[in-house]
Amino acid sequence: MEGEKAKLLIVDDEKINLDILIGLLGDEYRTVVAKDGEQALHRLEALPLPDLVLLDVIMPGMDGFEVCRRMKENLLTRNIPVIFVTSRTGEMDEAVGFDAGAVDYIVKPYHPAIVRARVRTHVDLKRRGDMLERLSNLDPLTGIANRRRLDEFLNFEWSRSIRTGHPLSMILIDVDHFKRFNDTYGHGQGDRCLIQVARALSRPIQRAMDLVARYGGEEFACILPETGAEGAMAVAERMRVAVSDLGIPHVASTVAPRVTISLGVASVTPNKNDLAQFLMEKADDALYLAKNRGRNQVVFSEAPGQPQLP
Ligand code: GH3
Ligand code: MG
Ligand code: MG
Repeated sequence: MEGEKAKLLIVDDEKINLDILIGLLGDEYRTVVAKDGEQALHRLEALPLPDLVLLDVIMPGMDGFEVCRRMKENLLTRNIPVIFVTSRTGEMDEAVGFDAGAVDYIVKPYHPAIVRARVRTHVDLKRRGDMLERLSNLDPLTGIANRRRLDEFLNFEWSRSIRTGHPLSMILIDVDHFKRFNDTYGHGQGDRCLIQVARALSRPIQRAMDLVARYGGEEFACILPETGAEGAMAVAERMRVAVSDLGIPHVASTVAPRVTISLGVASVTPNKNDLAQFLMEKADDALYLAKNRGRNQVVFSEAPGQPQLP
């Protein structure tokens, strides 16, 4: 999204007001309009969401304060800054506006340059916040999601699974004999290896809702919403092959002359009484078994006696 024009939603029941604001801001921003509160909330269901909302206070039906309150109650729209635009007739109760969650208000008649400056300030702050949010969710070495993001995602999907009754699967992944790899090739080479492994693990992921993360050190994790044991095992096996196919030499490994991974898979249909930790512990037990059985393999948590995959 970098470099792309920011998007504004302008809400006002009078067309002349909309036209004036579009005239002021239309060059610098992509603008979308709504003519009342209901339409504004409807617009906020479509992606991409706006970076800022300019909101009239007095409108027929739902007023601007209510629109703002509802935006702040919704997880998807709560971070979008709202500026109230209103006339000086006493309709604007500043305190009510800020209580409803607005970041600023502009009183009519306004000076065009002031409107532009205030909008620019809040759009910049919003974009900076978005960027920090993205960075705080990424692992700096590999560029994939980090543990923070994984934990957050797991809890979110766990609750969603309880509601929908769909199964949720997790794959824990650990590079085989990575200490020996570092000892043999050096830490810098080790870092480059982890970057390639992260890329290879992301390749078998086909659905946008799946998440691959670096869990820490040379451990990775993958969460597959709405996926049962069979689907998760298939993804895990493709990951195992993808890493092996990188063909990164590893002469000190007892498993193969190249870098390999071990994978533990768990799949549950959670109920209210279980904690998300339960899924992770099961995947971890399976990973432990995969290591014990000779590494470079996928093990499913609930079938300790199952025939081993090649
Ligand atoms: P196993 O097959 O049982 O998993 O053996 P292992 O050697 O991979 O496991 P162990 O947990 O003993 O060692 C993990 C190693 O991973 C030790 C540590 O130096 C290395 N490591 C962890 N994080 C990084 C990293 O960011 N970069 C590099 N280069 N190495 C790392
Ligand atoms: Mg480890
Ligand atoms: Mg390891």
